[in-house]
Parts: sequence; structure tokens; C-alpha cells
Amino acid sequence: MAEKEFQQCVRCKYVADKEERYCIKCGAPLKNRCTKEKTLMHKGCSKVNKADAKFCADCGTATTFNEWGLL
Ligand SMILES: [Zn+2]
Ligand SMILES: [Zn+2]
Repeated sequence: MAEKEFQQCVRCKYVADKEERYCIKCGAPLKNRCTKEKTLMHKGCSKVNKADAKFCADCGTATTFNEWGLL
């Protein structure tokens, strides 16, 4: 039997299922995504970074957790 994967909310420590995108207890994002948006010149970057990353490892743009002040 495969073990279910979990992730923890960085703000309230709620333990959520791996596939959930936002914390159901406090509304904070659970995935630390790159915030670089798609533009005419760039295809954007939606990389999911490590939970403690303030900036994207691929392009150096601020991450979701950084923008939300969670780090
Ligand atoms: Zn939370
Ligand atoms: Zn990026």
C-alpha cells in the first residue's frame, strides 16, 4: 500500500493532502510557486520551488510564499 503524501501549511502548520493548493484553515498557498507571469515576451514560469525558497530557482522571480510574507 502506497503511503499518502502530505504537506504542511507554512503559516498555521495545518497538515494538508499533497494535491491541495491552498490551506483550508487559513487560506495560505501550500505550493511555493514562482510568480513570473505569462507575457507576450515570455511564456511565464510556474515552477514549484522548495518551501523555504524566497526566489525561484529557475528564473530568480519572487515566489508565492515570499509575496505572501510567509518566509
Ligand atoms: Zn494554513
Ligand atoms: Zn521562475
